[in-house]
Amino acid sequence: MDKFWSPLVSRLHPYVPGEQPRDQQYIKLNTNENPYPPSPAVIAAINEAVGASLRLYPDPEARELCEVIASSVGVGTRNVFVGNGSDEVLALAFMAFFSGHQGQVNFPDITYSFYPVYCDLFDLTANTIALEYDFSIDLSRYNGLPGGVIFPNPNAPTGRETPLSQIEALLRDNPDTLVIVDEAYIDFGGESAIALVGRYPNLLVIQTFSKSRSLAGMRVGFAIGDSGLIEALNRVKDSFNSYPLDRLAQTAAVAAIKDGIYFNNIRRKIIETRSQTVDGLTELGFQVVPSQANFVFAMHPEYAAADLYRELRQAGVLVRYFNKPRIDQYLRITIGTDEEMQTMLTRLPEAMARLRETT
Ligand code: PMP
Repeated sequence: MDKFWSPLVSRLHPYVPGEQPRDQQYIKLNTNENPYPPSPAVIAAINEAVGASLRLYPDPEARELCEVIASSVGVGTRNVFVGNGSDEVLALAFMAFFSGHQGQVNFPDITYSFYPVYCDLFDLTANTIALEYDFSIDLSRYNGLPGGVIFPNPNAPTGRETPLSQIEALLRDNPDTLVIVDEAYIDFGGESAIALVGRYPNLLVIQTFSKSRSLAGMRVGFAIGDSGLIEALNRVKDSFNSYPLDRLAQTAAVAAIKDGIYFNNIRRKIIETRSQTVDGLTELGFQVVPSQANFVFAMHPEYAAADLYRELRQAGVLVRYFNKPRIDQYLRITIGTDEEMQTMLTRLPEAMARLRETT
């Protein structure tokens, strides 16, 4: 421990993101990025925004972006908050709603591993609730618990969706509990809880431009909720950083929302490739968790996931492996282009053959 570290820093266990190799040799199926480029309209808008105006600060309220998001999801502008990636929106939400007075945050035992990190950062108790045997979330287990609730829908890293009816029951039966639904992957086949925002002031839905809009490099995320919740997020944001979204990010995100045709084309394409990938993996003997996300979670009963991960990596295909209880037999494989998935499905049986030879 460094002598200058605060007690807070000393107790942190920071999140470790998936590897971003500096060379381009890998087929990169490890961080759930979109394999397709951003819409050409987005690139054109960014190019146009590069110029003398960069000397000026961006709009601190990102009004145009909030307006286009609001009209695209059918809420008022006062129901929209934007931030520097949904990770930042999540962190600000933990600070705005959970930190201090409530003390406990409830989430699944297998889920996005940033949630326990935020609990550390904001001195909150992480209360984890086991997923069912099939990796589904049973939200009735969250009824009546003290503190807030957060879960991704679809869940990460499993890809499984939780039905909206269960989410609505939780909101209805626990009106004093704030429920955050992290919809990072919702555009790949799930049903968004945004439709419930008008009826449930205890619901905050968080989405991102990183996955379905191909803008992970721009860092744009947003939250939809009751105007009181949005005001709380703005109060925290304005006590921290007035300009979390730079000019280029705001411009890019506005253009991405406006190009709905491109968005629908690429997400449909990924859903189609996902279904072919599931078929291919199943043929190779994998068991695949039903996914509504841009990744699949798969295990092979005869091969250790850690070995497959290592062999694939050596063969130029990066996937994600989590050395954690209950999921250390699984690989999380991002859906890439058809060609990338074909290569992955060719390299996998080769890797399996090599592993058979060495045992
Ligand atoms: N939520 C979940 C469940 C995720 O998997 C991710 C991506 N790592 C995020 C939020 C954050 O995405 P971003 O910060 O790129 O918006």
